[in-house]
Amino acid sequence: MLIKSHTGFVYLTYNNSDMTITVVYDNNPYKEGVQTAWGFSCVIAGPEKTILFDTGGDGSILLGNMERLAIEPNSIDMVVLSHIHGDHTGGLNSFLEKNPEVTVYLPKSFPEKFKDNAQGYGAKIIEVEQHCKICESVYSTGQLGKWLKEQSLIVRTDKGLVVITGCAHPGIVKIVNTAKDLLKDEILLVMGGFHLEWATKGKIKKIVLAFKQMGVRYVGPCHCTGDKARRLFEEHFGKNYINIGAGKVITLADLQ
Ligand SMILES: [Zn+2]
Ligand SMILES: [Zn+2]
Repeated sequence: MLIKSHTGFVYLTYNNSDMTITVVYDNNPYKEGVQTAWGFSCVIAGPEKTILFDTGGDGSILLGNMERLAIEPNSIDMVVLSHIHGDHTGGLNSFLEKNPEVTVYLPKSFPEKFKDNAQGYGAKIIEVEQHCKICESVYSTGQLGKWLKEQSLIVRTDKGLVVITGCAHPGIVKIVNTAKDLLKDEILLVMGGFHLEWATKGKIKKIVLAFKQMGVRYVGPCHCTGDKARRLFEEHFGKNYINIGAGKVITLADLQ
């Protein structure tokens, strides 16, 4: 759609009104027939490019689930890898065997061997250091964290920002705050691994409160969030809690 800005320039914007996020890999069950395994991966369709965010830990499970969910590997334009852990990158080789014609966005801190391997399949590699635009209306937070670097994905919609995390090792509150600061918009949804599996109830409650203070509208914690934290988020977010597992599809129309 064309929008005229206050400076008089006309620019093209995508409102992503038909965006869908399909969880193709998670350790929580959701849809019958879609396999669960430790790790995370989802497909974002609707923006300018179709993006595979992380690849789960096992290529055959990833490809099997994609097939079950009617997502053709060839429909993917870009792969974004959050961080180096095997439960997020393990499925990459099998995916690239099916479709090497992709651009892979990965944290610059990844080992050279990893980058060379992906390039060996014919994929184009883009090393992410700072916050950057991945395609129209989709951004990376840039690599965050001190020792273990991780990037998260931000999708701009006309209802607010959708933040998708892999494991959230740099801290989920820090990631959401960074997304808010960078794109100066409200947070519609935060989903993915929040890395609270081993956190105390007190710590989790503080995080839930921080989410409320940051004005997060919907939450979809999965992967390494842990059952205790998922229950607490559900208690506090009520109908704005999204139960995510392998096979879950979220559309923008679901988010009011
Ligand atoms: Zn991790
Ligand atoms: Zn993980």
